[in-house]
Amino acid sequence: MRLTPVFLLSATDVSHFPAPAKTFDAPEIAFLGRSNVGKSSLINALLGSKEAHVSSTPGRTRAINFFALHEGSGDKMKVRPSLIFADLPGYGYAKISRSISSEWPQFIEPYLAERQALALCVCLVDTNIPPQPNDTQLITYLKQTQRPYLVVGTKSDRVSGNVLAKSIAALKKAHEVDEVLPISAKTDAGIKALWSKLISVAEE
Ligand code: GDP
Repeated sequence: MRLTPVFLLSATDVSHFPAPAKTFDAPEIAFLGRSNVGKSSLINALLGSKEAHVSSTPGRTRAINFFALHEGSGDKMKVRPSLIFADLPGYGYAKISRSISSEWPQFIEPYLAERQALALCVCLVDTNIPPQPNDTQLITYLKQTQRPYLVVGTKSDRVSGNVLAKSIAALKKAHEVDEVLPISAKTDAGIKALWSKLISVAEE
C-alpha cells in the first residue's frame, strides 16, 4: 500500500485537534518518546519523506503535529485517509522540564485519555541508553488508561547484535512489556516490521 502523507495541522491546545469529520474518523497512531530518541527520524523513515522535519534543537516542538496518510498519490490519491499520524512533543528534555508530569497536563494527557480515534501509541525508547524512568512513567500511564501501545527501540544500528539483545531484554524488564521492536531510521532495520503492525491497525 503506497501512502501519501499530507500535513494537517499543528495543535497547541485541545481545541485544535482535528475533528472526526476532517479525518474521516480514520484510526490515529500517536508517536511518543523522550526528546532526541529519534522520533522525527523514525517518522521520516516510515513516510519516506521529510514530513516530520528532523528537529535540530531537542525539545523545541511543543505541539502535536497531525498528518493524514492517503492511499495512492497525485490524482489517484483517495480523499479518505487510511491512517492519521500524531507526532507528540518529546518529553524529558532537562532544559524544558524534568518529568513528563509537569509539562503534560494541559493537552498531552487529555489527548491520550480522551482522543476517540487513537488506535495505537508507538512509544519510542533508545536502545543505546539504560531504561529511563520517564519512559516507564509514560508506559505505565498507557497501561492504566488501557490504550493499545507498542514499544519500539530506536537507533538499533549503533550497537552490535549481542549488546542490542541485552539492551532489548533490559528495556522489556524495566518497562514490564512483552515486546520491544528494534528499529533503525538509519539502516531501515525493523521499519517493514513496524509498518506491517501499523497497517494492521489501519485495517481493523
Ligand atoms: P527526536 O528529537 O526524537 O525527533 O530525534 P531526532 O529524530 O531528531 O534524532 C535525534 C538524533 O539521533 C539525531 O542526531 C539523529 O540523527 C539521531 N538518530 C535518530 N535515529 C537514528 C538511528 O536510527 N540511528 C542513528 N545512528 N542515529 C539516529
